[in-house]
Amino acid sequence: MVETYDEILEANQAYVTSGQHRSLDVRPARQLAVITCMDARIAAFPTLGLELGDAHVIRTAGARVTDDVLRSLALSTHVLGTRRALVVGHTRCGLYDPDGQIDATLTELMGRPPFNQSWGTFTDPPGTVRKDCQRLLVWPDRPDGFIVAGYLLDVDTGELQPILPPTEAAPPERPPA
Ligand SMILES: [Zn+2]
Repeated sequence: MVETYDEILEANQAYVTSGQHRSLDVRPARQLAVITCMDARIAAFPTLGLELGDAHVIRTAGARVTDDVLRSLALSTHVLGTRRALVVGHTRCGLYDPDGQIDATLTELMGRPPFNQSWGTFTDPPGTVRKDCQRLLVWPDRPDGFIVAGYLLDVDTGELQPILPPTEAAPPERPPA
């Protein structure tokens, strides 16, 4: 198990020596923030044609737009200049749970009920991408000119299926001056 860490450091030295890495501006060049799943079968940058420095990639189990995603997005947009958000759900996601089994599964694996109770499971993958895009479109802290789109990625072919075309959010409400 511990060899993994040694391998990581060795691979890192090879990466540094290869000259692939560059020092870049902290602001994403494509003004894009991608929200996708932590799934190991998703290579976010090559799948979306992105280069180092192009985009923020915020990964959560299930590609769900959680409160913590909104925390990251507030910084991504207002501090670091992103104006486009893209939700990328995927096929064969572990949080696709049509039978509502996740608590029972974890209780069995852990030998007791899990402390965490909010899993973000879903039964309708495209519908869930749409719902999470909708959450972004009405997010109270969204910036002006905020555009949201949603895709579903087939993890077996790497192909994206558009779910929500790019949609501009209404300007955020501001208290009267
Ligand atoms: Zn997933």
